[in-house]
Amino acid sequence: MLNKKIKKILIGTNNAGKLKEIKDLLPKSTKIFSTKDFKLKSPKETGKSFLKNSLIKAKFFSKKTNLICLADDSGLEIDILNGKPGIFSARWGGAKNNFDKAISKVFRELYKKDKNWKLKKVKARFICALTIYWPNGKIVKSEGKIEGLVSQKKKGKNGFGYDPIFIPLKNKLTFGQMSPSKKYKIDHRFKAFKKIKRFF
Ligand code: IMP
Repeated sequence: MLNKKIKKILIGTNNAGKLKEIKDLLPKSTKIFSTKDFKLKSPKETGKSFLKNSLIKAKFFSKKTNLICLADDSGLEIDILNGKPGIFSARWGGAKNNFDKAISKVFRELYKKDKNWKLKKVKARFICALTIYWPNGKIVKSEGKIEGLVSQKKKGKNGFGYDPIFIPLKNKLTFGQMSPSKKYKIDHRFKAFKKIKRFF
């Protein structure tokens, strides 16, 4: 079946880093709205998975605006922390989503788990779930991930969130040290977007 291309969309996020990255993925001709244009607060993320939470956000923002909405739920899973912070990645930054605070918590939790964690390879992955929600109730979902290691210390000032402590496999630099254009071509969001690109 032929899909009608989306010409106008609301990006359902209040996270400036995500908004910048998603804008960069969409064709230049797409008219983009942000939650700020409508002064909308994000809904509570009550789901137990990235996909469920991305649907909660996409549906919420679409219903509020009557626009097609693309929402992202994403986070970092660290193997020796049994997948934490996972869907709680933003919440580890406290009420103000402070990324320094979230990274300090990662280091604290790693020390608690293993005092010698810095001598080991700490496997982790970023996961991104994307949902497009149409005002008529149509839903399209996709997921992407990128495997990597946790860096022993924060490195780099680019990006957002956990970028300064994530080194993708086969790389030496953290996402925080990479140019945004390089990160955007390999990361979890790019991989999730590739699967729904045909709608744009
Ligand atoms: P969400 O808004 O609940 O999906 O929060 C996602 C959180 O995961 C963000 O606040 C970041 O802390 C983290 N995160 C997701 N994607 C990335 C990324 O590409 N780089 C760094 N951190 C990310």
